[in-house]
Amino acid sequence: MKALNKFIHPFAVILYPSLILGACADSTEISIEEKEGAQSEETTNPLKSSAETPMNIIFLIGDGMGTSQVSAAYFYGEEGIKPNFSRFPILGLINTTSGSDRITDSGAGATAFSIGQKSYNGAIGVDMQGEAVQTVNEILETQGWQSGVISTSGITHATPASFYAHVAKRSQQYDIAKSLVYSNISFFAGGGQKWFMNRPDSVNYVDSLNHYGFSVGMDSLGSADHSKRVGYLLANDGLLAKHEGRDDFLPNATAEALEYFTQSEKSFFLMVEGSQIDWGGHENNGDYVIQEVLDFDKAIGVALDYAEKHGNTLVVVTADHETGGFSLSGDGKSMSGYGEISPTFSTGGHTATLIPVFAYGPGANYFGGVYENTAIFSKFFEALGQ
Ligand code: MG
Ligand code: ZN
Repeated sequence: MKALNKFIHPFAVILYPSLILGACADSTEISIEEKEGAQSEETTNPLKSSAETPMNIIFLIGDGMGTSQVSAAYFYGEEGIKPNFSRFPILGLINTTSGSDRITDSGAGATAFSIGQKSYNGAIGVDMQGEAVQTVNEILETQGWQSGVISTSGITHATPASFYAHVAKRSQQYDIAKSLVYSNISFFAGGGQKWFMNRPDSVNYVDSLNHYGFSVGMDSLGSADHSKRVGYLLANDGLLAKHEGRDDFLPNATAEALEYFTQSEKSFFLMVEGSQIDWGGHENNGDYVIQEVLDFDKAIGVALDYAEKHGNTLVVVTADHETGGFSLSGDGKSMSGYGEISPTFSTGGHTATLIPVFAYGPGANYFGGVYENTAIFSKFFEALGQ
């Protein structure tokens, strides 16, 4: 890793002139200064790159993913292969309590990340008073950034919606679909066709997406025209669960988004959600949770590979809350039960446990420590020097 870090920075500048020519002048200038500093300064500190300024941000949310869910990747993954969670040099912990309840839902949980304020459970991109507040990616869009959202749920579901919509209640998915049409999102992928096509107002919002410059793929990744804004609606509602046969949608959509954004010299903010870790928790289905965590870990690997190769991208992984009171239990009766793990649950709902934060790349060092979920938002801007 040390040798790799030393190597990446000079090369990144040569291979990716976007560092110099990026449309986002402010962040680009900072990047160049930092890159030149990296070239001239001899150091062996493996965390050095963590102190620099990112050009891009990839933010991955494992909905319902507490430390036991992360731990599952260490016991159920491919034999002899370390989970991608092991690749992060910086760790933090967040308190996810919402503005209305000790235990958050996914609306308030994602809204805390997107607007930097605690709001009430069910809120989507609005504060405690129900007022719209600009999201992290909306602010960055005003600075010339591209942004994208990817989810294994419907794309109008609470977590992705909190980044581009501002509505009082997460259940307003028809309104949220409309918000996506009028947003500045330039890449999205998930399910949720029904919120665009079978609407009470009879408007076909897939036609509207096309009208607003999207190429919309309805069958498979890779089918949209990358010279336009790209949208994928690949299921009527949520995508299939991994244990019921979903393919590598999440890592593949992440890879396609990164390829799409890298066509342009502009910076990008990409949110990637492993939505169904939460759904497995609600079902108290250990296999469901584990398969979703392993799939999410693959998407993390795609993000980290990109960040390692390009040297200019901050990767942050966390969760909105934990779901299920999931634990990797023994049989609880005797030492003889310590050889086997039996996943167990303590609730069909969410819990208040602190949630881990993993950070890699320029700006990562801001994400160490123990703090509120809302600080994720402010740390993105601190990392950008704003
Ligand atoms: Mg979610
Ligand atoms: Zn949930």
